[in-house]
Amino acid sequence: LIDDRIARITSAIRVIPDFPKPGILFQDITTLLLDPVAFKDTIDLFVERYKDKNISVVAGVEARGFIFGPPIALAIGAKFVPMRKPNKLPGAVISEEYSLEYGTDKIEMHVGAVQEGERALVIDDLIATGGTLCAAISLLERVGVKVVECACVIELPELKGRERLGGKPLYVLVS
Ligand code: AMP
Repeated sequence: LIDDRIARITSAIRVIPDFPKPGILFQDITTLLLDPVAFKDTIDLFVERYKDKNISVVAGVEARGFIFGPPIALAIGAKFVPMRKPNKLPGAVISEEYSLEYGTDKIEMHVGAVQEGERALVIDDLIATGGTLCAAISLLERVGVKVVECACVIELPELKGRERLGGKPLYVLVS
């Protein structure tokens, strides 16, 4: 049953108040990784949703998109593309800047990692303001990739990140 799996996933996520700064309720997925049943349920739920959607690219956002993305990519027969923080990728990159509460940040992707016309799923552990996913979508769309959907384990709905995705579908397991 889907609901049993969601309940197990929800209870495996640890919430740590005031990390990394006062007022933030940090959703810690490392405890989910310690529970092999809940971790497998998480991957299975995504695989069940995406296996027949003709997706050739799973793009994972650094850092926790690197944990959930690769097992999904392997299971659905897609490539995995890391979307990294600035100056980490060794080859030629394209990058996209996005705004944070204070200042800006950037994500980068290797040139040539994806081809025009491919179909992508973008994955991260959590959506807060939606800035990160929005930048990931822009990067892929700039090179002619169709972003079929974004997926996260957790959504913080009060931050309205979904609205920032410009109508792009977002699938989350825990809200
Ligand atoms: P945003 O761009 O605002 O949607 O933020 C999403 C990114 O920040 C994700 O990569 C999350 O891992 C991280 N993040 C933001 N808020 C939290 C939180 N409360 N707990 C854990 N991670 C968070």
